[in-house]
Amino acid sequence: MHKNPLGVHALVWAGDLSPESTRMVMAQTRRAGFDVIELSLHGPKVMDLALTRDLAQEHGLQLSCSRGLTLDADISSEDPTCVARGMAILEEGVNITAALGGHYFGGILYGAMAKYPGPLSPAGRANATRCLQQIAELALKRNITLGLEVVNRYESNQLNTALEALDLIDRVAAPNVVVHLDTYHMNIEEADFTQPVLACGKRLGYVHIGESNRGYLGTGTIDFKQFFHALAMIDYQGVITFESFSSTVVNEVLSNTLSIWRNLWTDSMDLAIHAREFMANGLHAAAQSKGTI
Ligand code: MN
Repeated sequence: MHKNPLGVHALVWAGDLSPESTRMVMAQTRRAGFDVIELSLHGPKVMDLALTRDLAQEHGLQLSCSRGLTLDADISSEDPTCVARGMAILEEGVNITAALGGHYFGGILYGAMAKYPGPLSPAGRANATRCLQQIAELALKRNITLGLEVVNRYESNQLNTALEALDLIDRVAAPNVVVHLDTYHMNIEEADFTQPVLACGKRLGYVHIGESNRGYLGTGTIDFKQFFHALAMIDYQGVITFESFSSTVVNEVLSNTLSIWRNLWTDSMDLAIHAREFMANGLHAAAQSKGTI
């Protein structure tokens, strides 16, 4: 059997994290059979940290946090003021994750989640590297791992492939910084679903499972069979979280940034149960047949 904790992104359930929404998110996540809830730190600051931490414990859920920076608060900028605003957001993210009892903070931590008007400059790259070194030190004190999510070219000009992430992680040289791969983005940028996983090996620390249309798993073009086999080949035992977005559930900041313009699904519970089974079955088959194909 696979040993991976399976998670779901909160935006499958709710567009905000008010106390009322958080209660529903935690209960539904548990009801659908997941082990992990991933909370996006975008959007209005309505989260009750103590309540959220208690609800996760009550439902026996591990908790991870994710976010991206913005063009006016960007550690890969050449403008020191803009870099400082980006650092403040990262520090806040680490502190929120710690307050929630979480041990993972990931996403586009190295720059803005945005379509950049040009390529990353050498000075911007140096700023991002130096800032990540500082934030990794803070995270280490809080027992938190930082995940650098590799995303497509329309959401970052810095990390579009696993190899680019590995290069940045080498330069940051901190023990608590890992690669975060997402099949939706890999489908756009990588040559296949095997080589990036093998290249990461033990430095792969978090995984997002998303379909090419960000809807129901199995309705798009992603070769999940290949990806699950690659995970089995490196004996990946970390968290695997389902990510899906539809205009049924909207967080204005995140939904608009990700260009979620249409309805891919309407029934969150049906979608989530289907996704959990899809992931569990794929991982199980890959683990059982490892070395035989
Ligand atoms: Mn993702």
